[in-house]
Amino acid sequence: MVGRMGVPLLDLRAQFGPIRDDVMAAIARVCDSQLFILGAEVEALEAELAAMLEVDHAIGVSSGTDALLVAMMALGIDRDDEVITSTYSFFATAGCIARLGARPVLVDIDPATFNLDPTAVASAITPRTKAIVPVHLFGQSAELEPILETAARHGIPVIEDAAQAIGARYKGRAVGGIGRVGCFSFFPSKNLGAFGDGGLVTTNDPALADTVRLLRGHGMRPKYYHHAIGGNFRLDALQAAVLRVKARHLAAWTAARQVNAARYRALLGPAAAAGHLALPPEAPDRVHIYNQFVVRARDRDGLRRHLTELGIGTEIYYPVPFHAQPCFADLGYAPGAFPAAEAAAAESLALPIYGELTDEQLQTVAGAIDAYYAR
Ligand SMILES: *Cc1c(COP(=O)(O)O)cnc(C)c1O
Repeated sequence: MVGRMGVPLLDLRAQFGPIRDDVMAAIARVCDSQLFILGAEVEALEAELAAMLEVDHAIGVSSGTDALLVAMMALGIDRDDEVITSTYSFFATAGCIARLGARPVLVDIDPATFNLDPTAVASAITPRTKAIVPVHLFGQSAELEPILETAARHGIPVIEDAAQAIGARYKGRAVGGIGRVGCFSFFPSKNLGAFGDGGLVTTNDPALADTVRLLRGHGMRPKYYHHAIGGNFRLDALQAAVLRVKARHLAAWTAARQVNAARYRALLGPAAAAGHLALPPEAPDRVHIYNQFVVRARDRDGLRRHLTELGIGTEIYYPVPFHAQPCFADLGYAPGAFPAAEAAAAESLALPIYGELTDEQLQTVAGAIDAYYAR
């Protein structure tokens, strides 16, 4: 039955059901107040998330993209600067660099973890390098220590793109508070999702936090006196109220994703041993929060078609690395420049991993994968 009904990649309705009353009460509270911009709900969320993420400052913003943009603006990233990041991530990571007139200097990934290769980062440094942006892709921290060492040696900041990694840990520390600044997204499909767009900037640097707050509201302090050219990067009170309810459940939701990942490891072990799949590795010094469970698959496109026919949702994160995107043609990277990222783009497949999946659904996915390689 479950097989015929299919398994969606993500079903947010399953998560909403049990928290519906609390969320509706929070929304009603904002409606009754008619205070929609920043205010007490946003301030409360910022305090609660700062405690959860073990940072001194958390600043609610309008999206994960705007978190990256305003963090880079606050650090003074400007025209003709260079910013090093992975060629294999969601577009916003490199898009924000380019929007500021700076040059995204792309590096290849570690083929095992999909995260940027620290050795390649060190080799990409030039006198123009103004920041390094490691991405904690799919919910597992990048190899931060060598990246932090490179950054410290050159006196430049590390901006953590933690959009997919809220609650992930590296050597005992929460991501987002390890570099100079951390950027999170509350896009609905992230582990902590709003009812629309939202984001967060985290830092332990009080001066930087103050600049981010200033830039979030058009550089205005007090009203109609502008000290810097910022933007409208504000988080809505409605989103903050929803997120405050959801944040209380995040640890349990993450644990359920981790249980599902462990179950996939058991169920897909034979397919991996037979060389059909590579399962995502979990480094011993990290806590992976499984925003995505991404495997590498032999004949990935054929497998994906087979799963789609059975009603099993999958996604390709990401089919085209930055260096091969039409909008970045002027960066001048040749096809084949980053072989590990290109191989990942051709082989990676995200399987359903959300916490409310039943064991029967996980078995359906694994059974369908086995059936594909058995025929
Ligand atoms: C989702 C995401 C972003 C952007 O977040 P939005 O809230 O969608 O703007 C940035 N970087 C990465 C790695 C992401 O996954």
